[in-house]
Amino acid sequence: MRTCTATFHFDEKVHKLRRQYVYNETVEYGGNSRINYDTKTIEPKDTNTSNQFAASTISDSRVDWHTHPAQCVKGLCTLGIPSAVDLENIFVLSLEGPIAHLVYSKEGTYLIRLNRAFIKRFRDDYDHNEFCSYICQLRTTFGDLYENFLHSKNKNYPSFRSNWLSAAQRLGFEIHFFQGDTVPDVQLVYPCDYKGTSSQTPSSLVFHDPKNYFKPSGCTKCKK
Ligand SMILES: [Zn+2]
Repeated sequence: MRTCTATFHFDEKVHKLRRQYVYNETVEYGGNSRINYDTKTIEPKDTNTSNQFAASTISDSRVDWHTHPAQCVKGLCTLGIPSAVDLENIFVLSLEGPIAHLVYSKEGTYLIRLNRAFIKRFRDDYDHNEFCSYICQLRTTFGDLYENFLHSKNKNYPSFRSNWLSAAQRLGFEIHFFQGDTVPDVQLVYPCDYKGTSSQTPSSLVFHDPKNYFKPSGCTKCKK
């Protein structure tokens, strides 16, 4: 199978609408996408709201998204950056096939995915202990960063954010940031003969038949 790489664009109007959810709504929105391989565009599929301020639901479509509301509710504000749970979900879903996830937040739009070589190594040589130890590493790293930020006197968000981004990169994530309302685009790898529209990873790129291998809920014994 020959694979091609191309830049896929997001629809500007759709993007604008999602940015409006961030600015105007106090609940999270999220949804799936369809990938149009002919026009090289990412088209919207379903849009849902959890009706919750912070929900961290991520679907299993290959390019999906959710919002972090910019508005605060009763003095509680969500942070713009993707949460530890967001990263954990993105990692677990990536083990089944390449996924790109967008988090729309007040400072801009984050496009997150796992480094392909990293995830392939992980998956080709799958070991459940290693899986849990990586999950624990995610929980501890981002949990600690978050706690430190929360309990710091000056709550320096830019510095917290930059530490957070470097930690994510060290742990195998690729994060592209599109400032403010900038429309994101994404590079996708796909079989060159792939035509039409799909919301799934082309089967030739799926890493394995989704089974019950990857259950982060079983990773309970993270050392503190
Ligand atoms: Zn989130």
